[in-house]
Amino acid sequence: MTTPTNSSAATLEKLVALCKRRGFVYQSAEIYGGLNGVYDFGHLGYLLKENIKQSWKQAITTTEPNIVFLDGSLLGAADVWKASGHVEHFSDPMVDCMNCKHRYRTDDVDLERACPHCGKKAWTAARQFNMMFQTNLGAAADQASVAYLRPETAQSIFINFKNVLSTYRVKVPFGIAQIGKAFRNEITPKQFLFRMREFEQMELEWFCKPENSAYYFERWSQARKDFFSSIGINPERIRLRPHEKNELSHYSVACNDVEYRFPFGWKELEGIAHRGNYDLSQHSKFSGKDLGVYDEETKQTYLPDVVESSVGVDRLFLTLLFDAYYEDVVDNETRVVLRFSPKIAPIKAAIMPLTKKQTEAAEKIYADLRRKGYQIQFDESGSIGKRYRRQDEIGTPVCFTYDFDSENDHKVTARNRDTLTQERIAIDQLEQYLDAMLKNR
Ligand code: ATP
Repeated sequence: MTTPTNSSAATLEKLVALCKRRGFVYQSAEIYGGLNGVYDFGHLGYLLKENIKQSWKQAITTTEPNIVFLDGSLLGAADVWKASGHVEHFSDPMVDCMNCKHRYRTDDVDLERACPHCGKKAWTAARQFNMMFQTNLGAAADQASVAYLRPETAQSIFINFKNVLSTYRVKVPFGIAQIGKAFRNEITPKQFLFRMREFEQMELEWFCKPENSAYYFERWSQARKDFFSSIGINPERIRLRPHEKNELSHYSVACNDVEYRFPFGWKELEGIAHRGNYDLSQHSKFSGKDLGVYDEETKQTYLPDVVESSVGVDRLFLTLLFDAYYEDVVDNETRVVLRFSPKIAPIKAAIMPLTKKQTEAAEKIYADLRRKGYQIQFDESGSIGKRYRRQDEIGTPVCFTYDFDSENDHKVTARNRDTLTQERIAIDQLEQYLDAMLKNR
């Protein structure tokens, strides 16, 4: 047995292939040629996403106690998106190549040069392209029936601000959090799960008194940055980057991006924005409803400020894959391993009988641990080495093998994914073993 060499060798192509091979992610409508920028998640992808969401919920609610959740609609009334500024401003500049008809975001190409696709230089003038998906509600396709698939989850939080305030015992400062789908008609979806047309966001809108917003902006920026190392991401590949004044959106007072160092450069993973009272004031103005809060101390009504944090589930999914992917040489053979932290790993342990003779006894352990709620797998096909490799590739932290000695000593061999060390563990101690493993990140 050799010690793993620890070489991270992740490329986008390798991750796409692994995700397909092991059932994490499939291209949507693949049998019909594929739908660009849209993906389906298989069993393991679903479990990984669930773990990501669970960790996020846990992280925000332990940072601040006053947080309630919302699950808003995906279809949004046109008025909402007019008030938020999306109808007018939510666009990217694009150009077309008149020769080959390829379309680009202007910041993705050098307009001084030829089209990277056909090699001719025949650009149209740059124009704005609104990224919202528009639809019509009901049979009449007229202006009055226009609605939009939401391009972010935040607005459903702002338009329900008064509902939440009057139906829960929340008091400023407090947060409304939401996990849900968002849709953007990206001109050029790319880099797999990095830029998609349908994706999921985890957003927190933190409402506070204006005099405290600078404090909360710093507090949430730090807490959100720390979150990524708490789920096992290498802190050296994470940084917080404040926006320059000229980068700020029209509504932002300040903005910090948490960035990850992808093989294609430092890129935004999460945005933390000090939005002032822009959203509540816009919705008050457009709806004619007063969204102000009564302050018991000053006996006056005011609009709270908002600190927003917003991260994509899928972009974080991709980040976790990049960060965890290693190719090791073990016994002169290369193995692919995903070094997920146990908390994030979709499968926590695999139970394996060494030969068919031990199947029944191993199945008993499997059933017992499953009943206790652990997300585990039973694997009996192929050589033990092959089974280990299979589990390494999906990031399972430990494999328990029931072998010839198990019947006598009531122990299994626990094989560690990262160190490859093996130790004997009493069968009645497996629950404690897993709990300790899951506590350590
Ligand atoms: P970018 O500059 O990368 O387009 P953005 O600034 O438009 O991102 P926000 O509107 O701040 O992004 O969205 C918050 C988060 O949602 C992003 O940090 C990212 O994690 C995720 N996200 C945004 N757009 C997409 C997309 N097209 N596909 C996947 N995730 C996305």
